Amino acid sequence: MRKTRTEVVIETTEVYIIRQQRRFVRAWCEDCGRETSLVPPAEAALLIFREPDAIYSLIDENRVHFRFFDDRTPFICLPSLCSI
Ligand SMILES: [Zn+2]
Repeated sequence: MRKTRTEVVIETTEVYIIRQQRRFVRAWCEDCGRETSLVPPAEAALLIFREPDAIYSLIDENRVHFRFFDDRTPFICLPSLCSI
């Protein structure tokens, strides 16, 4: 009698969607010369898959546009962030 072997393969995929309340403001960016969306450093870091410290380095190197609204937290211009 011939043996028959049956393999059952079950592939599973899990997708985690983490929703956070996005914080951004629409404001005038002097460098772009138009109204843009600006995000705080932590949000900017998430968007480009880097640590928040990297955002401050980009600010120090003038590689992104930024603006202060409360004299403490720089808000990063999204168009300039996308051009990195
Ligand atoms: Zn800008």
